[in-house]
Amino acid sequence: MTQRRRAQHIASNADCEERCGGQTSVRSEWAFSPADSLAGATSLAQPLARVTRKQHKTGKQVTDMGSFLDAIADLPPAPGGMDAAEWQARLELAATYRLVELYGWTSIVYNHITLRVPGTDDFLINPFGLRYDEITASNLVRVTLSGDKVSDSPWPVNLAGYTIHSTLHRARPDLHCIIHTHEPISQALSATDAPCVPVTQEGCQFFERIGYHDFEGIVLDGSEGPRLVTAIGEAHHTLLLRHHGLITAGPDCAWAFVRHLAFIRNTEVQLSAMATGRMIPIPKAIMVNCRQQFEGGSAQAGAKQRHPEWPALIRKVEALDPAWKT
Ligand SMILES: [Zn+2]
Repeated sequence: MTQRRRAQHIASNADCEERCGGQTSVRSEWAFSPADSLAGATSLAQPLARVTRKQHKTGKQVTDMGSFLDAIADLPPAPGGMDAAEWQARLELAATYRLVELYGWTSIVYNHITLRVPGTDDFLINPFGLRYDEITASNLVRVTLSGDKVSDSPWPVNLAGYTIHSTLHRARPDLHCIIHTHEPISQALSATDAPCVPVTQEGCQFFERIGYHDFEGIVLDGSEGPRLVTAIGEAHHTLLLRHHGLITAGPDCAWAFVRHLAFIRNTEVQLSAMATGRMIPIPKAIMVNCRQQFEGGSAQAGAKQRHPEWPALIRKVEALDPAWKT
């Protein structure tokens, strides 16, 4: 199958979670040795044939809420006056903050995870000043794309968080959930001039799905916006921010979270393998096929739902502290 036909096949797959297209901006030059063992990996910079991405609309937000709700028997109803869809989004996002805390990816009160409020351009973000294990469904802050706080919250919103996330939500309406952390394994890779090299099956999800953005200081205004938008492109769901951290995104929190975990795991293996000087690249055709197994759903063949680990993770959150859902 030619690259173009393969891309079209992926793009037309009814189960494909995100449409494919665009080009990678992976660097092709390596500043470290041994070059021989890594030479094959430089082929990662070759772009897949460009295809047209089907534009996702804000109103078509899809979440795996059915399985999510099944995970917990006594989820509280939406507070008076709040739309049920927003309340479900708040529950999903609060659980995600608790999971990021559980996995040790937090920077105390910094960094940010956002989820679009279904059917709107607004998104939910953490109250700036609370630890992730203090975040609940009701204390998340709803803001508009233009930066107006909708929620009657005593907490401010992290300016860098608003700037980065509003830029990406505006550019990619299909990426409803965006997770940004300063997780140190990702930061280590970001401090090299190496690209992400898929060296595990989970890592193949990032083949031609990751963009790179150079460090310009703390993102406190919109001046970096155009470069962030270029880096995310039309097909990427992950950004490695040089000397900074990691962004993964997806159509819901489950996708964004499992991608964060998969990226970190692959990066741990990649850095360890690189240190031996004998890393073996995965052939491109294998990476493309394996990526489609994840994007098309066959990676979870036989499971009750698309991400069977998601309700399992929610049960863990509930067991640790049921206050997340208040
Ligand atoms: Zn950051």
